[in-house]
Amino acid sequence: MNTNPPLVLVVEDEPPMLRFLATALAARDFRTAEAKSCKEALVAATSQNPEIILLDLGLPDGDGIALTRKIREWSQVPIIVISARGRENDKVEALDAGADDYLTKPFGVDELMARIRVALRHAAGGASGGPAVLDIGPLHLDLARREVAVDGREIHLTPLEYRLLVLLAQNAGKVLTHRQILKEVWGPPYAHQTQYLRVFMAQLRRKVEPDPARPRLLLTEPGVGYRMRDI
Ligand code: CA
Repeated sequence: MNTNPPLVLVVEDEPPMLRFLATALAARDFRTAEAKSCKEALVAATSQNPEIILLDLGLPDGDGIALTRKIREWSQVPIIVISARGRENDKVEALDAGADDYLTKPFGVDELMARIRVALRHAAGGASGGPAVLDIGPLHLDLARREVAVDGREIHLTPLEYRLLVLLAQNAGKVLTHRQILKEVWGPPYAHQTQYLRVFMAQLRRKVEPDPARPRLLLTEPGVGYRMRDI
C-alpha cells in the first residue's frame, strides 16, 4: 500500500498562483510537482504518476482543455481545472472533455482542499458503484429499496426524478454539466435538452429542499450545471 501523501501535479504558468498553490498544498502535507506548460505537464503526468492534477486552462503552449483530452486517452487521474471568472464555456468544455471539477480564480484554500478531497474520494471509489445507502445532510437515499427520505420523512419521486437525484448524490461535492446529467438520466440523444433538466430540477427541489427558492442541497453552478452539496 502507498503510504506516501498524495502527489499533486500543479500545472500553472503564473508564478504567484503557482506559489500560492504549492504553499497551500505543502501546508496540508501534500507532495507537489510543478509544470508551467502543456509540454511539461504531459511529461510530469506520465513520469511522476500524480494522484491528482490541478490544471490552469490558459497555458503558454496550448490550452488545458486539449491537454485534458490527451490525458484522458490513457489516465483517469482526477483533474481539477483552474479558470478565470466568467469563462463558463471553458469550464463546460473542460468538464465535458473529462475534467472532474473546477475552481474559479480567486479561490480560498478551504475551497481548494474541499475540491481535492471530493476528487480523491471519487477516484478511490472507482466504477464499482459505491455505497448502497447515501446520507447527505437531511437526505437519506436507500438505493437497494429505492427509498428516499428527507428529515426522516419518506418522499415519492417519479423514476426520472429518482435517477436525477441518485446521480447527483453519488457525485456529491462534484459539479456535473447539463450535458453529463442529460446523457446519464435521459440518454445521449437528449444531451442538449437543457430545458428538460431545468423543469425536473425545479420539481425535485420542491420535493427535497425545505426552501426550493434557496436550495441547500441541489446547487446551481451558473452556466455550467448542478452540484449536490457535500455534507
Ligand atoms: Ca495561465
